Amino acid sequence: MKTAVFGETGGPEGGWTKETLEKRLVRRVAKASEDYGLIEPNDHIMVCVSGGKDSYGLVHLLSVLQRHTPFRFTFVAVNLDQGQPGFPKDVIPRFMEAHGYDYRVIERDTYSVVTDKIPEGKTYCSLCSRLRRGILYDTAVKLGATKIALGHHRDDVIETLLLNLFYSGQMKAMPPKLRSDDGRNIVIRPLIYCHEEELARFAEFMKFPIIPCDLCGSQDGLHRKKVKNLIAGLHGENSAVKGTIFAALGNVRPTHLLDKKLTAKLGIGVASGPDEGIAALEGGDVGDDEGGGCGGPATNIVPLGRLASR
Ligand code: SF4
Repeated sequence: MKTAVFGETGGPEGGWTKETLEKRLVRRVAKASEDYGLIEPNDHIMVCVSGGKDSYGLVHLLSVLQRHTPFRFTFVAVNLDQGQPGFPKDVIPRFMEAHGYDYRVIERDTYSVVTDKIPEGKTYCSLCSRLRRGILYDTAVKLGATKIALGHHRDDVIETLLLNLFYSGQMKAMPPKLRSDDGRNIVIRPLIYCHEEELARFAEFMKFPIIPCDLCGSQDGLHRKKVKNLIAGLHGENSAVKGTIFAALGNVRPTHLLDKKLTAKLGIGVASGPDEGIAALEGGDVGDDEGGGCGGPATNIVPLGRLASR
């Protein structure tokens, strides 16, 4: 379903204004929606709001998008108050009311459950997010929401991919659209093409009342911080790197991986020709990160600039 097209305007080089940045972000949300069927006619979307810059941005951008789509969709913002000490209960309701957004606050003291069950020194996040997910999925069903929107952006996707690669032995990131295991909910990530620095700058322009994200006192951020630093270092050397990693997620070559279940499913367990199999093993096409320096097929070489344009 097509939405109104916004041109690329402004940028860090030219100097962003609130208006140019808003257009850019809405355009990215519209593109993601078109590419993956995220927002569809008559959707009633439950937007999860944590009080961070991204979820406030998501609410705002959806409200702008509502005025530009040729079809009707509605949304309700939902904040789950998890009982973390010092959580400022009035901040999100005040913001929602000031802007006239439909919203709900759900109070569940998962913080006590987590701190009770997890031994001191261990990270809370795994149990905490499982509890949160269950509550939010139930809430979406109660509210009659057709979809649940989360505020993850492009940089979250890249970091998650590397975290899984480095620390969990899985090649997976975050999908733009996913049906829950029990089939009751569809989760969407409309900000998946939005860059974190753009969302951060936009949050400053909009003066979103941001709630600090360390109230729970969890130590889980350690690996993520390492990955963030790694990406920042690589980005400092070559600003195309983030775009390249992100592009790789849309350019998967199952024949060049080792997942037996996947290759069996696709019927590609056996090399089908020189380009896909034997030639690769002989050194013609083996992940040459400098662009085919070993004489591999030129078709494999994609200019970094082109990849980074996303
Ligand atoms: S950072 Fe805190 S709130 Fe977030 S998942 Fe971990 S324990 Fe829960």
